[in-house]
Amino acid sequence: MTDSEIESDVLSVHTVAAARLWAANQFPYLASAIFALSVEEAPGIESVQVDQWWRVHADPVVATTWSVEQLGGELIHLGTHLLRDHASRAQAVGFTDPAELHHWVEAADAELNDDLPAELPRGQIAIKPADLGCPNGRLAEEYYQSGQPRDGSFSDCGSGAHGQTAPWEPPPPRDGGTGLEKDQQELVRQRVAADIQAHDAADVPEGLLRWAENRRRSSVGWRTLLAAELRRSLASVAGAVDYSYARPSRRASAAGNVILPSLRKPEVSVAVVCDTSASVDENLLGTALSEIEALVRSVGTRGVQVIACDDAVHAVTTVRRADDVTLFGGGGTDMGVGLAVAAEQRPVPQVVVVLTDGFTPWPDKQPSNVTVLVGLLETADESSIPPPPPSWCRTVHISAGAGSPP
Ligand SMILES: [Zn+2]
Repeated sequence: MTDSEIESDVLSVHTVAAARLWAANQFPYLASAIFALSVEEAPGIESVQVDQWWRVHADPVVATTWSVEQLGGELIHLGTHLLRDHASRAQAVGFTDPAELHHWVEAADAELNDDLPAELPRGQIAIKPADLGCPNGRLAEEYYQSGQPRDGSFSDCGSGAHGQTAPWEPPPPRDGGTGLEKDQQELVRQRVAADIQAHDAADVPEGLLRWAENRRRSSVGWRTLLAAELRRSLASVAGAVDYSYARPSRRASAAGNVILPSLRKPEVSVAVVCDTSASVDENLLGTALSEIEALVRSVGTRGVQVIACDDAVHAVTTVRRADDVTLFGGGGTDMGVGLAVAAEQRPVPQVVVVLTDGFTPWPDKQPSNVTVLVGLLETADESSIPPPPPSWCRTVHISAGAGSPP
């Protein structure tokens, strides 16, 4: 037995940590995904699988027979099922019986394995396109359609590969379980795509390069999402105010995402809390602020109150233009302080947009009578993923690379 072999029937945190490090070292551009996976013991499942919430379930009886490198190789394999969103894609394929499910997993595996190095250690069997009678370089959907189903042993990579929830899976995060919510998953995919594109292309398998390029090209621009969310927030507030003064027409109230074009516009007061801690990208913050300002002005609301905040509020200014904003660099971050100061402004803002990198504590409860929208700014630091903003606010991810105007 070598030093790297696992010497117990309990999957220790040290072993999992060593496997992660090994995997991140082999594929540094996948590090965000590898560290986003949680690993939980699942005695009796007789395999190591991943679910749709980025949780790896490992039967210790199986995993402890593997070397650290094999477990690391499995983390890479299972993580790339998630990056490529095989669970959602499986739903689009729409299989119904277990044989079709097996064939889909083989097809998905073939997509992952066709350009990964052959020497990647694995605990479980690695299906290649040739095993299905197919050439390399295709998508799982194509392998599924034209590939020959294999006989023999099948290793189930889990609901993260095929979308069929196993009865033993713990509840999803929305019901109190651990794991990543969908928007956090998207954030990880965005990070990995950016990391792949920043990496020397000669070192990245071709399939992953193609995936990253497609992802970056097809991602919906954050400007569109931010505008949509802000309009929605303004509309809900304006609608409520309007209703208390004069009955809006049926037509106007039905047009939920249209901001009262030429009606009497109730003034909606908007504040932006800007995270000015050291880790925030100032250019990105400035760009996001300009977008908000332009949008708020276009709907005829007065200027935006801008509150610069790190762990204490440095400045509260009401500005007409984003250029007028002064930002102060700072250390730690507490956006709760900024939200509290926003609530003290007159007029009291009904909509507060928080622009932050997300590394901040949040209040337990939504401030009363305020709609909070979080613009989560991408950071240059790839090693950590911020905790999710609370469920009582809506979140838009803002990145430097995606969503630029054409
Ligand atoms: Zn697999």
